[in-house]
Amino acid sequence: MRKNIVAGNWKMNKTLQEGVDLAKELQTALNGKKVNCDVIVCTPFIHLTAVNALLDPTIVKLGAQNCADKGSGAYTGEVSAAMVASTGAQYVILGHSERRAYYGETNAILKEKLKQALENKLTPIFCIGEVLAEREAGKQNSVVKTQIEDSLFELSAEDFGKIILAYEPVWAIGTGKTATSEQAQEMHAYIRQTIAGKYGASVANETSILYGGSANAGNAGELFANPDVDGGLIGGASLKVDTFLPIVEAF
Ligand code: PEP
Repeated sequence: MRKNIVAGNWKMNKTLQEGVDLAKELQTALNGKKVNCDVIVCTPFIHLTAVNALLDPTIVKLGAQNCADKGSGAYTGEVSAAMVASTGAQYVILGHSERRAYYGETNAILKEKLKQALENKLTPIFCIGEVLAEREAGKQNSVVKTQIEDSLFELSAEDFGKIILAYEPVWAIGTGKTATSEQAQEMHAYIRQTIAGKYGASVANETSILYGGSANAGNAGELFANPDVDGGLIGGASLKVDTFLPIVEAF
């Protein structure tokens, strides 16, 4: 079922104690509140177990920001999807542009990560999006289409149906420069049409497609009002309840 979702990506922020405090504060703020979307926080790996212990998943759900492309073995420093799942986390962000740009994650590597995540019953929040030069050259649609085709289109329709997509124009991430509501709707509709071309309209209509890139309390309402924008992946504004909660309440 296509859902409205607001997911926070804490990135490499917060010590363990700070993260526990933020998760507690968020859970308290949302407890008893009627909201019209699922709320997810994606924390650093080391926070997962402690944060999972204090969250009620009917109020705030938990995810990681990455997982390994291998199942287990001699891969020093890596964290497997099975390890993530064993903490109680249900989601994993994959293909974030920071991972693609700084850690060399290619579409081929991401395909393996997706496989690991799905085998371990994690729901991937799969990120796609163009860089500024690609948008300025008018190539955003073909870039995003290739990302989707090369990483996702070998999945069965059933597995594709388990994925959440996040369209994150790289030029909007952490820059304070948000895509306009029209740019977001246009791309989300294009992504949905691309999915429909491969898996059919019903799979496409059931896929949640989130927008990410400097979303905040001021622009979330307008972005989420678009028919093909099903929520947001929120970086900077997810680090404080005061800035995250109004985005959740924008639905
Ligand atoms: C992100 O990291 O996914 C993101 C959208 O960051 P920000 O909201 O800070 O632009």
